[in-house]
Amino acid sequence: MNIVTNIKVWQKIRNKLRDKSIGFVPTMGNLHAGHLSLCIKSKLENDITVVSIFVNPKQFNQIQDFEFYPRTLEQDKILLKLNHIDYLLLFDAESLYADQYQIQIIETELSQILEGKYRPGHFVGMLTIVLKFLNLVRAENAYFGEKDYQQYLLIKKMSESLFLPTNIIPCPTVRDKDGLAMSSRNSRLHSDQRHRAAFFPKLLQSPDTIEKITNKLIHYHFKIDYIIDQWHRRLGAVWIDDVRLIDNFLRR
Ligand code: AMP
Repeated sequence: MNIVTNIKVWQKIRNKLRDKSIGFVPTMGNLHAGHLSLCIKSKLENDITVVSIFVNPKQFNQIQDFEFYPRTLEQDKILLKLNHIDYLLLFDAESLYADQYQIQIIETELSQILEGKYRPGHFVGMLTIVLKFLNLVRAENAYFGEKDYQQYLLIKKMSESLFLPTNIIPCPTVRDKDGLAMSSRNSRLHSDQRHRAAFFPKLLQSPDTIEKITNKLIHYHFKIDYIIDQWHRRLGAVWIDDVRLIDNFLRR
């Protein structure tokens, strides 16, 4: 695996990969089986797979969340090597935001609800960094998890609106045995919190009404940001103490 830390160096490498199909998996690191499922799909569908790890400060609306975000770079490198990833991009914030974040990508509708409502600025930061990486990698296919369903919809919308050449490919949510969606933030749950967390996906996919689910979640001491039916899915965001979980299920 080639690790590239300099944007100019990467641009030269990229220009030489002209005849290859490239699959791209952008991440914030602390890699788990969810991230790896995107990598595996990319490897199956492309000649070359590029993964980026960048904990994007602009998409965190709470400074503590950014500071406490798990960073496990050495372990991530081992996992990516084991999965035969071709390139790992590790660019720093100074180079990625050389413009001091003076150019931003703003979507005015879809980004205002759900995650956008509860995490002001999150989607502006997310769309801006994803566009930068999509322009740097110029992949044929880029892979995103359905766990972050609103994020996927926004990236797809951006890609269509700006006529980006990359296909935006959704990938199913990978879960732990008890149904909890894998997430880097799960590592911040203590064992009793982790045990309680499994009630969230269990209830979210139950046939109960939203009102019933809400009452049950409150009973288990979750704090609820939203539970809502949208895009033929049931989506939810909840807190266990100071850890926020999101998830969604397709509704039949
Ligand atoms: P993150 O590192 O959390 O920014 O996630 C990087 C990519 O991995 C995003 O497209 C996420 O939607 C995706 N992802 C995160 N967790 C999962 C999961 N449990 N299953 C599938 N994809 C995931």
